[in-house]
Amino acid sequence: MNIYTEKLLIEDFGISKELIDYVTNQEGKIIDNFKELDDIKEFNQYKIVKAMHDVKLGATDFNWTTGYGYNDVGREKTEEIYSLVFKTEDALVRPTIASGTHALSLTLNGILLPGDHLLSITGSPYDTLQQVIGIEGNEAGNLIEMGIEYDEIPLIDGQIDLDGIEAMIKENTKLVTIQRSTGYSDRRAFSVDEIGQAISKVKSINKDIYVMVDNCYGEFLDYKEPTELGADVMAGSLIKNPGGGIALSGGYIVGKEKLIERIANKATAPGLGKDSGLTFGTTRTTLQGLFLAPLITSEAVKGAILVGQVFSSLGYNVVPKVNDIRSDIIQAIEFGSPEKVEAFCKGIQDAAAVDAHFTPIAAEMPGYESHVIMASGSFIEGSSIELSADAPMREPYYAYYQGGLTYPHCKLGVFIALNNLLKDGLISL
Ligand SMILES: *Cc1c(COP(=O)(O)O)cnc(C)c1O
Repeated sequence: MNIYTEKLLIEDFGISKELIDYVTNQEGKIIDNFKELDDIKEFNQYKIVKAMHDVKLGATDFNWTTGYGYNDVGREKTEEIYSLVFKTEDALVRPTIASGTHALSLTLNGILLPGDHLLSITGSPYDTLQQVIGIEGNEAGNLIEMGIEYDEIPLIDGQIDLDGIEAMIKENTKLVTIQRSTGYSDRRAFSVDEIGQAISKVKSINKDIYVMVDNCYGEFLDYKEPTELGADVMAGSLIKNPGGGIALSGGYIVGKEKLIERIANKATAPGLGKDSGLTFGTTRTTLQGLFLAPLITSEAVKGAILVGQVFSSLGYNVVPKVNDIRSDIIQAIEFGSPEKVEAFCKGIQDAAAVDAHFTPIAAEMPGYESHVIMASGSFIEGSSIELSADAPMREPYYAYYQGGLTYPHCKLGVFIALNNLLKDGLISL
């Protein structure tokens, strides 16, 4: 490390020379992993710029509309760009989709009718989706209340049980769902190829069953996306990877035209579909974020690899392992104790550019069953493509680290988090 940088870390952040040397040494072991990420970044950058060229994106497309939002050219081009990038027939991309959960909920509610069967083949879905489906909590309007049947196939050693799918498919199975990312579990994210194999398996049993992918945290980590390997519909959040840290809010849903039409009719109203809905002047930030997304995502995943390397060198179980293929930006660390999780999350908060003077504490969160501690000091509230860490307060005390708009910021998070753990006597180098 450059001597000016070292001096600054020591004097302004109170990081010891020993800690700097430790992290720098660990970083030296992962530099080779960054090359492949740079290649993927380059590919996705060109793909996105090409889509912007194809729709003739122009400066006037960033203007506002009002009222019903009819003929919002910027909104229409944004949705066309998403279709081109994800290679689908159609897309719904709106700032008014409140979150990833909302995008996924709209997708499920748009496609499923009473009496239909929904099957998750990647075990229990993400916490918030459990409430959407109705397997946890008893929220009004959940899918089970609406007369939808639900089953899930547990993973076997963290892998999709391909041979177990056929037996779980019923006459009325309408939709199979696959979650790409780790979520709050202890398995690595599924690669796009693995997702493709699972989709082929489902289609070989019954080609009329739709396959949906929860692509949260997975975008732009590969040369392909699951929609290129047969997923009929896919959804994610704009305050994760595809918003590039710039999108103010929103979600996207991409897929088959007839599915997007049904989903859009849920998002607005039957008959209105995609033709209305104000974008409140967010087109520029949504698209500038998409433009930056390959870069930002690669910075974040480099940070995740550094976190994985450092904590595995200290003897902690990490998921994914340092040299596993990355298919999301999450790095899970099994801390085994609430004190360590809290010290780690506090360190990430201390490194934030915004709200660094606050201390995160575990609390109830809407949509989550356990108390969750969320370290997030972000420019966009709750944005987890920015440096963040969260942890449901339950055994075996995993912390989930993700995001970081720049690699140096991720590294600062590592320095401060380790420093906190050292100061509290919870680890030793
Ligand atoms: C983040 C996430 C979601 C949606 O979460 P929101 O906070 O509502 O955007 C859904 N599934 C997975 C796997 C996620 O990581």
